[in-house]
Amino acid sequence: MNQHCPLCQSAFEITSDDLAFYEKVSPTFNGKKELIPPPTLCPDCRQQRRLAFRNERCLYHRKCDLTGRQMITMYSPDKPYKIYDQEAWWSDNWDPLATGRSYDPAQSFFKQFDALFHEAPRISLINMNHQNAEYCNFALKNKNSYLLFTSAECEDSLYMNRSWRSRNCADCSSLEDGELCYEVLNSDHCYNCLYLQNCANCSDCYLGYNLHGCKNCFACYGLTNASYCIGNKKFEKAEYEEAVGMLRKDIGAVRENFEDQKRAQPRKYMDCINADSCTGNAISHSKHALNCFEVMNVEDCNFVCNATFMKDAYDVNNDDHSELVYEAVGSETNSMHAFNDICWFNREVLYSSLCFRCKNCFGCIGLKHKQYCILNKQYSKDEYEKLVPTIIDHMRHDGGNGFAMNRSPSTALRVNQATGSWGEFFPVSISPFGYNETMAEEHFTLSKEEILARGWKWHQEEDLKDQYLGPQYQIPDSIADVPDDVTKQILRCSVTGKPYKIIPQELKFYRDMNIPIPRKCPNQRHRERIALRNPRRLWDRGCAKCGKGIVTSYAPERPEQVLCEECYLTAVY
Ligand SMILES: [Zn+2]
Ligand SMILES: [Zn+2]
Repeated sequence: MNQHCPLCQSAFEITSDDLAFYEKVSPTFNGKKELIPPPTLCPDCRQQRRLAFRNERCLYHRKCDLTGRQMITMYSPDKPYKIYDQEAWWSDNWDPLATGRSYDPAQSFFKQFDALFHEAPRISLINMNHQNAEYCNFALKNKNSYLLFTSAECEDSLYMNRSWRSRNCADCSSLEDGELCYEVLNSDHCYNCLYLQNCANCSDCYLGYNLHGCKNCFACYGLTNASYCIGNKKFEKAEYEEAVGMLRKDIGAVRENFEDQKRAQPRKYMDCINADSCTGNAISHSKHALNCFEVMNVEDCNFVCNATFMKDAYDVNNDDHSELVYEAVGSETNSMHAFNDICWFNREVLYSSLCFRCKNCFGCIGLKHKQYCILNKQYSKDEYEKLVPTIIDHMRHDGGNGFAMNRSPSTALRVNQATGSWGEFFPVSISPFGYNETMAEEHFTLSKEEILARGWKWHQEEDLKDQYLGPQYQIPDSIADVPDDVTKQILRCSVTGKPYKIIPQELKFYRDMNIPIPRKCPNQRHRERIALRNPRRLWDRGCAKCGKGIVTSYAPERPEQVLCEECYLTAVY
Protein backbone atom coordinates (compact mmCIF):
# COMPACT_ATOMS: atom_id res chain seq x y z
CA MET A 1 0.00 0.00 0.00
CA ASN A 2 1.61 3.26 -1.12
CA GLN A 3 0.97 6.34 0.97
CA HIS A 4 1.78 9.98 0.53
CA CYS A 5 2.71 12.05 3.58
CA PRO A 6 0.58 15.19 3.77
CA LEU A 7 3.21 17.02 5.83
CA CYS A 8 6.52 16.47 3.97
CA GLN A 9 5.04 15.16 0.68
CA SER A 10 7.23 12.06 0.68
CA ALA A 11 5.98 8.66 -0.44
CA PHE A 12 6.03 5.77 1.99
CA GLU A 13 4.83 2.21 2.04
CA ILE A 14 2.61 0.31 4.41
CA THR A 15 3.26 -3.41 4.19
CA SER A 16 1.03 -6.32 5.07
CA ASP A 17 3.21 -6.89 8.16
CA ASP A 18 2.50 -3.31 9.22
CA LEU A 19 -1.24 -3.85 8.81
CA ALA A 20 -1.02 -7.04 10.85
CA PHE A 21 0.72 -5.09 13.63
CA TYR A 22 -1.89 -2.32 13.65
CA GLU A 23 -4.54 -4.97 14.04
CA LYS A 24 -2.63 -6.77 16.78
CA VAL A 25 -2.18 -3.60 18.86
CA SER A 26 -5.81 -2.48 18.39
CA PRO A 27 -7.73 -2.44 21.67
CA THR A 28 -10.80 -4.51 22.46
CA PHE A 29 -13.83 -3.26 24.38
CA ASN A 30 -16.75 -5.49 25.24
CA GLY A 31 -15.31 -8.19 23.00
CA LYS A 32 -15.13 -5.90 19.97
CA LYS A 33 -11.82 -4.76 18.46
CA GLU A 34 -11.53 -1.09 17.59
CA LEU A 35 -9.15 -1.18 14.64
CA ILE A 36 -6.31 1.32 14.58
CA PRO A 37 -6.07 2.56 11.00
CA PRO A 38 -2.73 2.74 9.15
CA PRO A 39 -0.86 6.01 9.81
CA THR A 40 -1.41 9.09 7.70
CA LEU A 41 2.05 10.62 8.20
CA CYS A 42 5.34 9.13 7.02
CA PRO A 43 7.65 7.53 9.63
CA ASP A 44 9.90 10.64 9.90
CA CYS A 45 6.99 13.02 10.45
CA ARG A 46 5.55 10.61 13.01
CA GLN A 47 8.84 10.55 14.92
CA GLN A 48 9.10 14.32 14.73
CA ARG A 49 5.58 14.62 16.18
CA ARG A 50 6.40 12.34 19.12
CA LEU A 51 9.73 13.97 19.87
CA ALA A 52 8.06 17.38 19.97
CA PHE A 53 6.63 16.19 23.31
CA ARG A 54 10.02 15.43 24.84
CA ASN A 55 12.01 18.23 26.40
CA GLU A 56 15.11 16.62 27.85
CA ARG A 57 17.60 19.43 28.03
CA CYS A 58 15.95 22.79 28.71
CA LEU A 59 15.60 23.46 32.42
CA TYR A 60 14.23 26.53 34.21
CA HIS A 61 13.46 27.88 37.64
CA ARG A 62 9.83 28.44 38.53
CA LYS A 63 7.52 28.14 41.53
CA CYS A 64 5.62 24.96 42.35
CA ASP A 65 1.92 25.62 41.78
CA LEU A 66 0.99 23.54 44.84
CA THR A 67 3.54 24.55 47.47
CA GLY A 68 4.94 27.83 46.14
CA ARG A 69 8.47 26.45 46.55
CA GLN A 70 11.15 27.35 43.99
CA MET A 71 11.99 24.38 41.82
CA ILE A 72 13.93 23.26 38.76
CA THR A 73 11.65 22.23 35.94
CA MET A 74 11.46 21.52 32.23
CA TYR A 75 8.54 24.00 31.96
CA SER A 76 9.64 27.61 31.56
CA PRO A 77 7.82 30.05 33.90
CA ASP A 78 5.67 31.42 31.04
CA LYS A 79 4.08 28.03 30.26
CA PRO A 80 0.35 28.09 31.08
CA TYR A 81 0.25 24.74 32.85
CA LYS A 82 0.05 23.69 36.50
CA ILE A 83 3.49 22.41 37.43
CA TYR A 84 4.19 20.71 40.77
CA ASP A 85 7.62 19.92 42.14
CA GLN A 86 8.47 16.22 42.26
CA GLU A 87 7.71 15.70 45.94
CA ALA A 88 4.38 17.51 45.74
CA TRP A 89 3.37 15.75 42.53
CA TRP A 90 4.01 12.24 43.88
CA SER A 91 2.28 13.06 47.20
CA ASP A 92 -1.36 12.46 48.10
CA ASN A 93 -1.89 16.16 48.82
CA TRP A 94 -3.98 16.67 45.70
CA ASP A 95 -6.62 14.74 43.80
CA PRO A 96 -5.80 13.95 40.17
CA LEU A 97 -9.48 13.19 39.50
CA ALA A 98 -10.48 16.74 40.51
CA THR A 99 -9.83 17.81 36.91
CA GLY A 100 -12.09 15.05 35.51
CA ARG A 101 -14.64 15.99 32.88
CA SER A 102 -17.17 14.35 30.59
CA TYR A 103 -16.40 13.78 26.93
CA ASP A 104 -18.05 16.41 24.72
CA PRO A 105 -19.00 15.11 21.25
CA ALA A 106 -19.30 18.69 20.03
CA GLN A 107 -15.52 19.14 20.19
CA SER A 108 -12.59 17.24 18.74
CA PHE A 109 -10.86 14.85 21.11
CA PHE A 110 -7.50 16.66 20.97
CA LYS A 111 -9.17 19.98 21.79
CA GLN A 112 -10.63 18.44 24.93
CA PHE A 113 -7.35 16.74 25.78
CA ASP A 114 -5.50 20.05 25.39
CA ALA A 115 -7.99 21.72 27.76
CA LEU A 116 -7.32 18.98 30.34
CA PHE A 117 -3.58 19.44 29.70
CA HIS A 118 -3.93 23.06 30.88
CA GLU A 119 -5.66 21.97 34.11
CA ALA A 120 -4.13 18.67 35.20
CA PRO A 121 -1.00 19.16 37.33
CA ARG A 122 2.24 18.05 35.71
CA ILE A 123 5.46 16.96 37.35
CA SER A 124 8.34 19.48 37.20
CA LEU A 125 10.78 16.97 35.76
CA ILE A 126 11.75 13.32 36.02
CA ASN A 127 14.74 13.02 38.31
CA MET A 128 14.35 10.11 40.67
CA ASN A 129 16.44 9.03 43.66
CA HIS A 130 19.29 11.42 43.01
CA GLN A 131 21.86 12.72 45.47
CA ASN A 132 23.13 16.19 44.80
CA ALA A 133 22.17 16.00 41.12
CA GLU A 134 19.26 18.42 40.92
CA TYR A 135 19.87 19.74 37.43
CA CYS A 136 19.10 16.49 35.64
CA ASN A 137 16.09 15.34 33.67
CA PHE A 138 14.77 11.89 32.70
CA ALA A 139 17.37 10.77 35.19
CA LEU A 140 17.58 8.02 37.76
CA LYS A 141 19.91 7.44 40.72
CA ASN A 142 22.64 9.92 39.76
CA LYS A 143 25.05 11.31 42.35
CA ASN A 144 27.02 14.57 42.56
CA SER A 145 26.32 15.33 38.93
CA TYR A 146 25.25 18.28 36.83
CA LEU A 147 23.20 18.51 33.62
CA LEU A 148 22.74 14.83 32.90
CA PHE A 149 19.86 13.94 30.61
CA THR A 150 18.34 10.51 30.04
CA SER A 151 21.06 9.03 32.23
CA ALA A 152 21.18 6.76 35.23
CA GLU A 153 23.51 5.68 38.01
CA CYS A 154 26.27 8.15 37.10
CA GLU A 155 28.51 9.80 39.66
CA ASP A 156 30.59 12.97 39.69
CA SER A 157 29.73 13.58 36.04
CA LEU A 158 28.80 16.63 33.99
CA TYR A 159 27.04 17.52 30.72
CA MET A 160 26.16 14.00 29.59
CA ASN A 161 23.24 12.37 27.86
CA ARG A 162 22.14 8.77 27.44
CA SER A 163 24.87 7.60 29.78
CA TRP A 164 24.83 4.86 32.35
CA ARG A 165 26.97 3.87 35.34
CA SER A 166 29.74 6.32 34.51
CA ARG A 167 31.99 8.13 36.97
CA ASN A 168 34.07 11.25 36.75
CA CYS A 169 33.11 11.90 33.14
CA ALA A 170 32.15 15.03 31.23
CA ASP A 171 30.72 15.83 27.81
CA CYS A 172 29.94 12.25 26.81
CA SER A 173 26.95 10.84 24.94
CA SER A 174 25.78 7.24 24.99
CA LEU A 175 28.54 6.13 27.33
CA GLU A 176 28.15 3.05 29.49
CA ASP A 177 30.44 2.18 32.37
CA GLY A 178 32.96 4.92 31.67
CA GLU A 179 35.41 6.45 34.10
CA LEU A 180 37.51 9.57 33.58
CA CYS A 181 36.16 10.03 30.07
CA TYR A 182 35.82 13.27 28.13
CA GLU A 183 34.08 13.73 24.77
CA VAL A 184 33.40 10.03 24.39
CA LEU A 185 30.49 9.00 22.17
CA ASN A 186 28.72 5.70 21.76
CA SER A 187 31.19 3.65 23.78
CA ASP A 188 31.37 1.42 26.82
CA HIS A 189 33.77 0.29 29.51
CA CYS A 190 36.38 2.97 28.81
CA TYR A 191 38.85 4.38 31.34
CA ASN A 192 40.79 7.62 31.08
CA CYS A 193 39.84 8.21 27.44
CA LEU A 194 39.26 11.38 25.44
CA TYR A 195 37.58 11.98 22.08
CA LEU A 196 36.50 8.42 21.29
CA GLN A 197 33.61 7.18 19.20
CA ASN A 198 32.29 3.60 18.94
CA CYS A 199 34.92 2.15 21.26
CA ALA A 200 34.79 -0.51 23.96
CA ASN A 201 37.05 -1.79 26.73
CA CYS A 202 39.75 0.81 26.12
CA SER A 203 42.00 2.68 28.52
CA ASP A 204 44.30 5.67 28.19
CA CYS A 205 43.26 6.27 24.58
CA TYR A 206 43.05 9.69 22.95
CA LEU A 207 41.17 10.30 19.68
CA GLY A 208 39.86 7.00 18.45
CA TYR A 209 37.20 5.40 16.31
CA ASN A 210 36.11 1.76 16.46
CA LEU A 211 38.74 0.65 18.97
CA HIS A 212 38.25 -2.49 21.03
CA GLY A 213 40.37 -3.55 23.97
CA CYS A 214 43.06 -0.95 23.20
CA LYS A 215 45.46 0.74 25.62
CA ASN A 216 47.58 3.82 25.07
CA CYS A 217 46.51 4.50 21.50
CA PHE A 218 46.44 7.96 19.94
CA ALA A 219 44.50 8.93 16.80
CA CYS A 220 43.80 5.31 15.84
CA TYR A 221 41.03 3.66 13.92
CA GLY A 222 39.56 0.16 13.82
CA LEU A 223 42.13 -1.57 16.07
CA THR A 224 41.60 -4.48 18.44
CA ASN A 225 43.81 -5.19 21.46
CA ALA A 226 46.48 -2.71 20.31
CA SER A 227 48.77 -0.61 22.47
CA TYR A 228 51.22 2.26 21.99
CA CYS A 229 49.98 3.10 18.50
CA ILE A 230 49.81 6.54 16.91
CA GLY A 231 47.82 6.81 13.70
CA ASN A 232 47.59 2.98 13.68
CA LYS A 233 51.42 2.69 13.77
CA LYS A 234 53.13 0.83 16.61
CA PHE A 235 55.75 2.63 18.75
CA GLU A 236 57.97 1.79 21.70
CA LYS A 237 56.54 2.99 25.01
CA ALA A 238 59.09 5.81 25.50
CA GLU A 239 58.75 7.04 21.91
CA TYR A 240 54.97 6.93 22.20
CA GLU A 241 54.93 8.96 25.38
CA GLU A 242 57.21 11.60 24.00
CA ALA A 243 55.29 11.92 20.73
CA VAL A 244 51.89 12.06 22.43
CA GLY A 245 53.18 14.73 24.83
CA MET A 246 54.07 16.88 21.80
CA LEU A 247 50.86 16.11 19.89
CA ARG A 248 48.65 17.03 22.84
CA LYS A 249 50.11 20.53 22.79
CA ASP A 250 48.51 21.28 19.42
CA ILE A 251 45.38 19.25 19.92
CA GLY A 252 43.15 21.47 17.71
CA ALA A 253 45.15 20.72 14.57
CA VAL A 254 45.57 17.06 15.54
CA ARG A 255 41.83 16.62 15.96
CA GLU A 256 41.12 18.15 12.56
CA ASN A 257 43.70 15.93 10.94
CA PHE A 258 42.20 12.89 12.66
CA GLU A 259 38.72 13.72 11.32
CA ASP A 260 40.16 13.70 7.74
CA GLN A 261 41.96 10.45 8.44
CA LYS A 262 38.76 8.93 9.82
CA ARG A 263 36.79 9.85 6.71
CA ALA A 264 39.29 7.98 4.53
CA GLN A 265 38.76 4.70 6.43
CA PRO A 266 36.25 2.07 5.35
CA ARG A 267 33.02 1.96 7.34
CA LYS A 268 30.69 -0.90 8.10
CA TYR A 269 27.22 -0.26 6.63
CA MET A 270 25.67 -0.44 10.10
CA ASP A 271 27.06 -0.22 13.61
CA CYS A 272 25.71 -3.41 15.16
CA ILE A 273 26.47 -6.38 17.39
CA ASN A 274 24.45 -9.54 17.11
CA ALA A 275 21.66 -7.99 15.03
CA ASP A 276 19.63 -10.62 13.17
CA SER A 277 17.54 -9.35 10.23
CA CYS A 278 17.76 -5.71 11.33
CA THR A 279 17.98 -2.38 9.55
CA GLY A 280 18.94 0.93 11.14
CA ASN A 281 22.00 1.85 13.16
CA ALA A 282 23.52 1.28 16.59
CA ILE A 283 21.63 -1.98 17.17
CA SER A 284 22.75 -4.71 19.53
CA HIS A 285 21.36 -8.11 20.53
CA SER A 286 18.18 -7.69 18.49
CA LYS A 287 16.05 -9.60 16.03
CA HIS A 288 13.73 -8.31 13.31
CA ALA A 289 14.28 -4.69 14.26
CA LEU A 290 13.58 -2.59 11.19
CA ASN A 291 14.31 1.13 10.88
CA CYS A 292 15.55 1.13 14.46
CA PHE A 293 18.27 3.36 15.90
CA GLU A 294 20.15 3.09 19.18
CA VAL A 295 18.32 0.03 20.44
CA MET A 296 19.34 -3.00 22.45
CA ASN A 297 17.47 -6.28 23.03
CA VAL A 298 14.50 -5.46 20.85
CA GLU A 299 12.51 -7.93 18.78
CA ASP A 300 9.89 -7.46 16.09
CA CYS A 301 10.12 -3.70 16.27
CA ASN A 302 9.79 -1.06 13.60
CA PHE A 303 10.64 2.66 13.76
CA VAL A 304 11.87 2.37 17.34
CA CYS A 305 14.68 4.60 18.69
CA ASN A 306 16.50 4.81 22.01
CA ALA A 307 14.86 1.74 23.47
CA THR A 308 15.82 -1.47 25.23
CA PHE A 309 14.02 -4.77 25.92
CA MET A 310 11.06 -4.16 23.63
CA LYS A 311 8.90 -6.64 21.79
CA ASP A 312 6.25 -5.98 19.16
CA ALA A 313 6.50 -2.21 18.99
CA TYR A 314 6.14 0.40 16.26
CA ASP A 315 6.83 4.13 16.39
CA VAL A 316 8.39 4.40 19.79
CA ASN A 317 11.05 6.70 21.26
CA ASN A 318 12.64 6.31 24.67
CA ASP A 319 10.88 3.24 25.97
CA ASP A 320 12.15 0.22 27.87
CA HIS A 321 10.74 -3.15 28.92
CA SER A 322 7.48 -2.92 27.00
CA GLU A 323 5.42 -5.06 24.71
CA LEU A 324 2.75 -4.25 22.12
CA VAL A 325 3.37 -0.54 21.99
CA TYR A 326 2.45 1.88 19.24
CA GLU A 327 3.17 5.62 18.98
CA ALA A 328 4.63 6.35 22.41
CA VAL A 329 7.41 8.49 23.85
CA GLY A 330 9.19 8.43 27.20
CA SER A 331 7.60 5.27 28.53
CA GLU A 332 8.61 2.30 30.60
CA THR A 333 7.20 -1.17 31.24
CA ASN A 334 3.84 -1.02 29.48
CA SER A 335 1.77 -3.43 27.49
CA MET A 336 -1.04 -2.83 25.00
CA HIS A 337 -0.13 0.77 25.03
CA ALA A 338 -0.70 3.35 22.29
CA PHE A 339 -0.56 7.12 21.79
CA ASN A 340 1.01 7.90 25.16
CA ASP A 341 3.54 10.36 26.53
CA ILE A 342 5.60 9.61 29.71
CA CYS A 343 3.54 6.65 30.92
CA TRP A 344 5.03 3.88 33.06
CA PHE A 345 3.87 0.48 34.31
CA ASN A 346 0.51 0.60 32.56
CA ARG A 347 -1.75 -1.84 30.76
CA GLU A 348 -4.25 -0.94 28.07
CA VAL A 349 -3.82 2.79 28.44
CA LEU A 350 -4.52 4.98 25.42
CA TYR A 351 -4.07 8.66 24.61
CA SER A 352 -2.66 9.54 28.00
CA SER A 353 0.19 11.49 29.52
CA LEU A 354 2.05 11.08 32.81
CA CYS A 355 0.07 8.06 33.98
CA PHE A 356 1.71 5.54 36.27
CA ARG A 357 0.58 2.04 37.23
CA CYS A 358 -2.82 2.46 35.56
CA LYS A 359 -5.00 0.04 33.65
CA ASN A 360 -7.72 0.70 31.09
CA CYS A 361 -7.55 4.46 30.96
CA PHE A 362 -8.26 6.72 28.01
CA GLY A 363 -7.33 10.39 27.52
CA CYS A 364 -6.02 10.80 31.08
CA ILE A 365 -3.29 13.00 32.54
CA GLY A 366 -1.36 12.61 35.78
CA LEU A 367 -3.10 9.53 37.23
CA LYS A 368 -1.55 6.94 39.54
CA HIS A 369 -3.02 3.49 40.24
CA LYS A 370 -6.33 4.16 38.45
CA GLN A 371 -8.58 2.07 36.25
CA TYR A 372 -11.52 2.84 33.96
CA CYS A 373 -10.94 6.59 33.75
CA ILE A 374 -11.67 8.80 30.75
CA LEU A 375 -10.44 12.42 30.70
CA ASN A 376 -9.59 12.00 34.40
CA LYS A 377 -13.16 11.01 35.27
CA GLN A 378 -13.86 7.71 37.03
CA TYR A 379 -16.31 5.22 35.44
CA SER A 380 -17.40 1.69 36.21
CA LYS A 381 -16.04 -1.11 34.00
CA ASP A 382 -19.35 -1.37 32.13
CA GLU A 383 -19.59 2.36 31.56
CA TYR A 384 -15.95 2.50 30.41
CA GLU A 385 -16.32 -0.36 27.93
CA LYS A 386 -19.43 1.25 26.49
CA LEU A 387 -18.21 4.84 26.35
CA VAL A 388 -14.70 4.38 24.88
CA PRO A 389 -15.94 2.80 21.59
CA THR A 390 -18.37 5.73 21.19
CA ILE A 391 -15.51 8.19 21.66
CA ILE A 392 -13.28 6.28 19.22
CA ASP A 393 -16.10 6.28 16.69
CA HIS A 394 -16.43 10.02 17.08
CA MET A 395 -12.64 10.47 16.87
CA ARG A 396 -12.61 8.73 13.49
CA HIS A 397 -14.00 11.87 11.89
CA ASP A 398 -13.77 14.66 14.46
CA GLY A 399 -11.50 16.75 12.19
CA GLY A 400 -8.98 17.02 14.95
CA ASN A 401 -5.72 15.49 13.75
CA GLY A 402 -4.14 18.92 13.52
CA PHE A 403 -2.20 18.62 10.29
CA ALA A 404 -4.72 18.93 7.49
CA MET A 405 -5.14 22.68 7.67
CA ASN A 406 -2.07 24.13 6.02
CA ARG A 407 -1.42 21.75 3.16
CA SER A 408 -1.79 22.14 -0.59
CA PRO A 409 -5.37 21.67 -1.83
CA SER A 410 -4.75 18.30 -3.49
CA THR A 411 -3.24 16.66 -0.42
CA ALA A 412 -5.67 18.45 1.89
CA LEU A 413 -8.47 16.78 -0.05
CA ARG A 414 -7.03 13.35 0.46
CA VAL A 415 -6.27 13.98 4.12
CA ASN A 416 -9.72 15.39 4.71
CA GLN A 417 -11.19 11.98 4.03
CA ALA A 418 -9.52 10.87 7.25
CA THR A 419 -9.10 13.94 9.38
CA GLY A 420 -10.04 12.09 12.48
CA SER A 421 -7.83 11.89 15.52
CA TRP A 422 -8.23 8.13 16.06
CA GLY A 423 -4.97 6.47 15.08
CA GLU A 424 -2.93 9.68 15.31
CA PHE A 425 -0.54 10.73 18.06
CA PHE A 426 -1.20 14.09 19.77
CA PRO A 427 -0.69 16.98 17.33
CA VAL A 428 2.53 18.98 17.82
CA SER A 429 0.45 22.12 18.32
CA ILE A 430 -0.71 20.88 21.75
CA SER A 431 2.77 19.95 23.01
CA PRO A 432 3.46 21.83 26.25
CA PHE A 433 6.89 22.84 24.91
CA GLY A 434 8.25 25.11 22.25
CA TYR A 435 9.40 22.93 19.35
CA ASN A 436 12.91 24.34 19.80
CA GLU A 437 13.06 23.05 23.38
CA THR A 438 12.40 19.45 22.39
CA MET A 439 14.22 16.46 20.97
CA ALA A 440 12.36 17.09 17.69
CA GLU A 441 14.61 20.10 17.21
CA GLU A 442 17.69 17.89 17.61
CA HIS A 443 16.65 15.43 14.91
CA PHE A 444 14.45 17.57 12.67
CA THR A 445 15.81 21.10 12.91
CA LEU A 446 13.47 23.82 11.66
CA SER A 447 13.72 27.60 11.59
CA LYS A 448 11.49 29.73 13.80
CA GLU A 449 9.48 30.73 10.70
CA GLU A 450 8.94 27.11 9.65
CA ILE A 451 7.84 26.17 13.16
CA LEU A 452 5.34 29.02 13.42
CA ALA A 453 4.05 28.44 9.86
CA ARG A 454 3.04 24.91 10.91
CA GLY A 455 1.07 26.29 13.83
CA TRP A 456 3.60 24.89 16.34
CA LYS A 457 5.00 26.67 19.39
CA TRP A 458 8.34 28.46 19.56
CA HIS A 459 10.08 29.15 22.85
CA GLN A 460 11.60 32.60 22.98
CA GLU A 461 14.78 32.34 25.00
CA GLU A 462 15.79 35.23 27.12
CA ASP A 463 18.22 36.90 24.78
CA LEU A 464 21.41 37.32 26.75
CA LYS A 465 23.56 37.22 23.65
CA ASP A 466 23.60 40.94 23.03
CA GLN A 467 23.51 42.01 26.63
CA TYR A 468 26.61 43.67 28.00
CA LEU A 469 28.04 41.35 30.63
CA GLY A 470 31.26 43.21 31.39
CA PRO A 471 34.56 42.96 29.56
CA GLN A 472 35.15 39.72 27.65
CA TYR A 473 37.01 37.22 29.82
CA GLN A 474 40.15 35.90 28.13
CA ILE A 475 40.47 32.17 28.80
CA PRO A 476 44.13 31.13 29.19
CA ASP A 477 45.17 28.52 26.60
CA SER A 478 46.71 26.18 29.11
CA ILE A 479 44.67 24.77 31.97
CA ALA A 480 47.75 25.29 34.19
CA ASP A 481 47.30 29.07 33.80
CA VAL A 482 43.58 29.12 34.65
CA PRO A 483 42.93 30.79 38.02
CA ASP A 484 40.32 29.53 40.51
CA ASP A 485 38.13 32.55 39.97
CA VAL A 486 37.30 31.45 36.41
CA THR A 487 34.22 29.93 38.06
CA LYS A 488 33.04 33.44 38.91
CA GLN A 489 33.38 34.67 35.32
CA ILE A 490 30.79 34.71 32.59
CA LEU A 491 32.29 33.15 29.46
CA ARG A 492 31.02 33.61 25.91
CA CYS A 493 30.52 30.69 23.53
CA SER A 494 32.82 31.14 20.52
CA VAL A 495 30.10 29.78 18.20
CA THR A 496 26.76 31.02 19.53
CA GLY A 497 27.91 34.02 21.57
CA LYS A 498 25.80 32.74 24.47
CA PRO A 499 27.09 33.21 28.01
CA TYR A 500 28.07 30.13 30.01
CA LYS A 501 29.85 29.36 33.26
CA ILE A 502 32.39 26.88 34.52
CA ILE A 503 31.36 25.31 37.83
CA PRO A 504 34.03 24.42 40.45
CA GLN A 505 33.53 20.66 39.99
CA GLU A 506 34.11 21.14 36.28
CA LEU A 507 37.29 23.16 36.76
CA LYS A 508 38.66 20.39 38.94
CA PHE A 509 37.83 17.83 36.23
CA TYR A 510 39.67 19.82 33.53
CA ARG A 511 42.67 20.24 35.82
CA ASP A 512 42.75 16.55 36.74
CA MET A 513 42.44 15.53 33.09
CA ASN A 514 44.78 18.27 31.82
CA ILE A 515 42.19 19.58 29.34
CA PRO A 516 41.85 23.25 28.35
CA ILE A 517 38.69 25.15 29.36
CA PRO A 518 36.14 24.69 26.53
CA ARG A 519 35.50 27.78 24.42
CA LYS A 520 32.02 26.60 23.53
CA CYS A 521 28.89 26.48 25.69
CA PRO A 522 27.63 23.03 26.85
CA ASN A 523 24.74 22.99 24.34
CA GLN A 524 27.00 23.76 21.40
CA ARG A 525 29.38 21.01 22.54
CA HIS A 526 26.43 18.62 22.71
CA ARG A 527 25.29 19.62 19.21
CA GLU A 528 28.74 19.06 17.73
CA ARG A 529 29.14 15.71 19.46
CA ILE A 530 25.73 14.50 18.27
CA ALA A 531 26.58 15.63 14.72
CA LEU A 532 29.39 13.05 14.63
CA ARG A 533 26.71 10.41 14.59
CA ASN A 534 24.88 9.26 11.45
CA PRO A 535 21.35 10.57 10.98
CA ARG A 536 18.28 8.46 11.75
CA ARG A 537 17.67 7.82 8.07
CA LEU A 538 18.38 4.94 5.75
CA TRP A 539 19.44 4.76 2.12
CA ASP A 540 19.79 1.87 -0.32
CA ARG A 541 23.24 1.75 -1.83
CA GLY A 542 25.85 -0.79 -2.97
CA CYS A 543 28.86 -2.04 -0.99
CA ALA A 544 31.88 -0.03 -2.19
CA LYS A 545 33.87 -3.22 -2.70
CA CYS A 546 31.58 -6.02 -3.91
CA GLY A 547 28.56 -3.99 -5.02
CA LYS A 548 26.11 -6.02 -2.93
CA GLY A 549 22.98 -4.05 -1.93
CA ILE A 550 23.12 -2.53 1.57
CA VAL A 551 20.72 -0.45 3.64
CA THR A 552 22.73 2.16 5.48
CA SER A 553 22.57 5.41 7.40
CA TYR A 554 25.45 6.72 5.24
CA ALA A 555 23.85 8.93 2.61
CA PRO A 556 25.03 8.11 -0.94
CA GLU A 557 26.84 11.44 -1.34
CA ARG A 558 29.03 10.93 1.76
CA PRO A 559 32.77 10.51 1.16
CA GLU A 560 33.31 7.40 3.29
CA GLN A 561 33.80 4.02 1.70
CA VAL A 562 30.85 1.99 3.01
CA LEU A 563 31.18 -1.78 3.04
CA CYS A 564 28.90 -4.75 3.57
CA GLU A 565 29.50 -6.99 6.60
CA GLU A 566 31.68 -9.53 4.75
CA CYS A 567 33.87 -6.96 3.00
CA TYR A 568 34.27 -4.96 6.20
CA LEU A 569 35.57 -8.01 8.06
CA THR A 570 38.32 -8.50 5.50
CA ALA A 571 39.19 -4.78 5.18
CA VAL A 572 42.73 -3.84 6.18
CA TYR A 573 43.50 -0.59 7.93
ZN1 LIG B 1 6.33 13.14 6.22
ZN1 LIG C 1 30.78 -6.12 0.08
